[in-house]
Amino acid sequence: MSEDILMTEAGVMELAQRFLTGQGLAAPHAAAMARALTRAQRDGGLSHGLQRLPGTRDTIGHPEFNKAARPKVEQLTPAVVQVDADYGFSIYGTELGLPALRRSAGQLGIAFMAVRNGFHSTALWPVVEDLAEAGLVGLSMNPTHDWVAPAGGSRPVFGTNPIAFAWPRPDQKPYVFDFATTAASRADIAMHRQAGQQVPPGWGLDPEGQATTDPAAILAGAMLPFGAHKGSAIATMIELMAGPMIGDRTSHSSARFDAGHQAAPCHGELIIALNPGLLGGAGDVENAERMLNAISGQGARLPGSRRHALRARHDREGIPVRKALYERILQLMAD
Ligand code: NDP
Repeated sequence: MSEDILMTEAGVMELAQRFLTGQGLAAPHAAAMARALTRAQRDGGLSHGLQRLPGTRDTIGHPEFNKAARPKVEQLTPAVVQVDADYGFSIYGTELGLPALRRSAGQLGIAFMAVRNGFHSTALWPVVEDLAEAGLVGLSMNPTHDWVAPAGGSRPVFGTNPIAFAWPRPDQKPYVFDFATTAASRADIAMHRQAGQQVPPGWGLDPEGQATTDPAAILAGAMLPFGAHKGSAIATMIELMAGPMIGDRTSHSSARFDAGHQAAPCHGELIIALNPGLLGGAGDVENAERMLNAISGQGARLPGSRRHALRARHDREGIPVRKALYERILQLMAD
C-alpha cells in the first residue's frame, strides 16, 4: 500500500494546472481540466482524479488533439445549445456552454447541450451536480471506445458509456448518481490482472467471445454491460443519443479515430437540464424528499452521499494523494 500525502484543494489544482500548461495547453484550457481532476480527487473519486494526469500526455499527443482549442458555443434553437470543443478536452467546452444551458432550461423548462469533438469528458457528476445546485435536474451521458459486447453477443460494440443524474434537494447536497454502464470498470478489471486475481463471473468475455473470469482475457476480449439486456439497452441509448443524434462518434468510430494512439476517447456528450418549476413540479419538493428519505431512512445508501462525506472530511483534513503518484507527476514535469 502506497503512503498518502495530504494536499489542499488549491495545491491539487495548482499541480494539475502546472502539469497541463507544461504540456502546452493554454491557461483556461488547462484550468478547466485541472478543475475537473481536482474535484474528483477532493471527493475521493480517485479513478478520475490526479491519477489521470500522466495519461493526459497520450491524449495531448494524439495528432488531432488541439492544445490551442477555442470551443465555440452556439444556440441552435431556444432549447438547444451546441458546443464544438474544437478537439481539446471536452470539459473546457462544457464549462463554456453551461451558462447558456442553465439560462435556456430556466426559461423553457428543458434544454439540451450537445458537446462535440471533445476528448474525455472526465467524471460526469461535477456538471450535473452543479446544475442541481442551481435548482435544475441534470442528466449527462457519453460513449467512449468499443470495449463492451452487447448482452447475448460476443464482440465489442459499446463503450463503458457513463450516465449521471442529479436532483436538487432543499438544504442539503443534491441526489447524484454517476456510473459506467458496464458490470465493472476497466480500471477494476486491470487491478485484478495486476493482483493476479480472477474477476467474478459476468464481467466479460475472452477474445473468442466465451465467458471468462480471467481479467487479461477480458481486456483483450470484451467487457459486459451491467444488468444483462437492461444495461445493454441503456448503453445503446447512450450511443445513439450522445453519438449520431448530436452528429458525433459512436464508441466504435471513436476507437477508429484513436488509431492506436492510446488517447482518451474523443466523443460527444449530451447534457440535459430540466427546470421542475416549469414542469408542474414546483410544489412537490416534499413528495420527492419523502421518497429519498424512505431510501436512506432504512439504512440504504443514497448515491452521492459517500462522496459528499469524503468532501467534507477532505476539506477539514486535507486531500489524500498517493505519494508515489505525486512523485511520479513531479518526475514527469521535470523530464
Ligand atoms: P461505480 O460503480 O463506483 O458507481 C458509482 C456511483 O454509484 C456513484 O454515484 C456512487 O455514489 C454510487 N454507489 C456506489 N456504490 C453504492 C452503494 N453501495 N449504494 C448506493 N450507491 C452506490 O462507478 P463507475 O466505476 O462505473 O464510475 C466511476 C466514475 O467513472 C464516474 O464518475 C463516471 O462518470 C466515470 N467514468 C467516466 C467515463 C468517461 O468516459 N468520461 C467512462 C466511465 C466512467 P458515491 O459517489 O457516493 O460513492
